Amino acid sequence: MNRIGIDLGGTKIEGILTDENYQSITRKRIPTNQDEGYNSILKSITNLIQELVKESNNKVSIGVCTPGALSLSSGLIKNSNTQCLIGKDLQNDLKNILHYNVSIENDANCFALAEAKLGAGKNSNLVFGVIMGTGVGGGIIINGKIHHGRTNIAGEWGHHCLHNDGNSCYCGNKGCVETYISGPALEKQWSQISGLNQSLPEIIQNHDNPNFGSWKKLFLDNFALSLSNVVDILDPDMIILGGGLSNIDFLYDEGKNAVYDKVFSDMVNTPIVKNELGDSGGVFGACLLESY
Ligand SMILES: [Zn+2]
Repeated sequence: MNRIGIDLGGTKIEGILTDENYQSITRKRIPTNQDEGYNSILKSITNLIQELVKESNNKVSIGVCTPGALSLSSGLIKNSNTQCLIGKDLQNDLKNILHYNVSIENDANCFALAEAKLGAGKNSNLVFGVIMGTGVGGGIIINGKIHHGRTNIAGEWGHHCLHNDGNSCYCGNKGCVETYISGPALEKQWSQISGLNQSLPEIIQNHDNPNFGSWKKLFLDNFALSLSNVVDILDPDMIILGGGLSNIDFLYDEGKNAVYDKVFSDMVNTPIVKNELGDSGGVFGACLLESY
């Protein structure tokens, strides 16, 4: 059986066709066109899947990696930062158009699954995968399987409350992790501290700026507080960072030590490592989902 994985991102939709050993046969990438709404996204995904099916010389399984989680009660997408997907029944809509069963999983779970089985966490039993980019998310993999939890909310670390009465979040709560250590949140903090409107890569380059130290300290404090909570509860064998912010080198030494300082244990050595699959975590995670 060949496998098709689709990664539905905020700006691009990527599709991959692999053989049964997850070796790439073909790969395609198209823009998401979020402004054109849900029906346009649905059409783009179905076209992409149909093209990949045509190129397969074997039966296929199909998995889709999407921002947001599926509500266990309704099957509809919730908590998505691609907001036109919220309340939509993407899984059934795809099934009705394609006449194939399609597995759907949120992007953080797909990332964590891909890294745990094919990437940096290959020999670890309990992996916590973190996405830090435009949004912040997390996924828990136990013995090679996604841990969904009772109501499919396990690992939703981005909306864990970090500061009581803190920053307002689109989810309706205040103080969520995502409002402190996502790319946009960090750019906003930099602008407030330095008066400069710069992108995150520009800020990192600007490390000689006199305000850089206080920005970085705030960032590391929030990074450490949010991840040390995870270590205290899960005590994972490995934490793997993904998303754009995973390219920030100081997270793997100063960031890691800051986490260790806050963990409730006299012995902490949890590896905090960079992903190995890069941008491909989503499509490979989608390939790894079982069709049902
Ligand atoms: Zn939130």
